[in-house]
Amino acid sequence: MIDFDNTEIAFRDKNNYALKKARWLFSLVGSDVLVKTGSVLLHGALRMRLPVSWALKPTVFSHFCGGETIDECDPTIQKLGESNVLTILDYSAEGKDNEDDFEYTRQQIQATIDKSVENKHIPYAVFKPSGLARVALLEKVQAGHTLSDSEQQEMDRVKTRFDDIIAYGAKRGVPVMVDSEETWIQEVVDGMVDDLMLRYNKEKPIVFNTLQMYRHDRLAYLKNTIARCREEGVYPAFKLVRGAYMEKEREYARKAGKLSPIYPDKEATDKAFDEATAICLKNADDVAVCIATHNEISCLKAVDVIATGSLPVDHPHISFAQLLGMSDHISYNLAASGYNVCKYVPYGPVKTVVPYLIRRAEENTSVAGQTSRELFLIKKELQRRKSS
Ligand SMILES: Cc1cc2nc3c(=O)[nH]c(=O)nc-3n(C[C@H](O)[C@H](O)[C@H](O)COP(=O)(O)OP(=O)(O)OC[C@H]3O[C@@H](n4cnc5c(N)ncnc54)[C@H](O)[C@@H]3O)c2cc1C
Repeated sequence: MIDFDNTEIAFRDKNNYALKKARWLFSLVGSDVLVKTGSVLLHGALRMRLPVSWALKPTVFSHFCGGETIDECDPTIQKLGESNVLTILDYSAEGKDNEDDFEYTRQQIQATIDKSVENKHIPYAVFKPSGLARVALLEKVQAGHTLSDSEQQEMDRVKTRFDDIIAYGAKRGVPVMVDSEETWIQEVVDGMVDDLMLRYNKEKPIVFNTLQMYRHDRLAYLKNTIARCREEGVYPAFKLVRGAYMEKEREYARKAGKLSPIYPDKEATDKAFDEATAICLKNADDVAVCIATHNEISCLKAVDVIATGSLPVDHPHISFAQLLGMSDHISYNLAASGYNVCKYVPYGPVKTVVPYLIRRAEENTSVAGQTSRELFLIKKELQRRKSS
């Protein structure tokens, strides 16, 4: 039986200094006022091009990110790997909107695929669709508006970029996860990823789509995709998440006078997440799944389905994932019991990773239970070390 309260395993690669720093950080992000003020100040400083790296790099950045470049992530990859926790390098430049940036991002993703080939601690690559395409363009395509000739060419380049990355992953044997985005562009992304699954998942799962289970249409989507992939003789592959844009989605639907795409409450989201997980696990022979969550109950339920189905804990089609700097008690305890576990390790220049860092801080504040849980476990471990 997995014990997520085992802090000795959870924090075994953190010395007292690192733990105290984490305690300080989670105490800070636990304060709603501090996080709100901090993010306003940070956005302002970036707009005014004030230097912020000196303050962020040794603190929030070093806790939640691997480094500014792929090679700077080496010590983090190595350290996680020593506890059998694997790495997914996540190039985290956000809010880009020109072709040069998109091309640069494509090269970065392909470089993470190369890194995966040479490093056994990196099983997957990942990318965020909005790192490769203009959101306004995807929105226009999804809304069914007519594209100008130059927009059509731009959209063709987006498809080529997606295809190049997945083809490169397939050639080098590295599966690639595609992150999910807001509903107003996700349909276009789904279309491209579904197509790529049919083309590249013939021999093994290469491209993974991400399903946000806070959406009430995703269980049906999951079942339909599995059925279609089976008809076509390819491996369906999914990363399951609850979803990161709840407030934005509700606001967008309200303004558009539409029904919200999100379940009305957390319980319904939890139920859908666990049901989707169970469907994938019970079909693990030909369905690949990455259970990406910081929710202990969902992880325990998944462990239970794996045990009931007598599946090997390290089944090649099953993995868990958490974000670097969060929920180590889940990652390290699952890994110590033999499950395949990954950490998303974001990297990129400090300035460009700021939106990611602010989201982490806000998420830790809005999910107050999560922060207090992290803090409780860190304090428990410090106390345990003191008394031993
Ligand atoms: C490795 C990894 C990769 C990720 N990739 C993506 C990605 O590609 N796209 C993406 O959108 N997110 C992604 N996320 C973030 C994820 O969607 C969640 O926002 C985050 O993990 C918190 O959910 P949880 O399952 O960990 O924990 P929990 O704390 O149990 O769940 C919190 C989540 O529950 C849902 N929720 C909360 N309140 C309500 C409510 N009132 N009604 C309905 N639902 C509610 C929301 O989704 C909220 O984020 C990723 C997370 C991880 C760990």
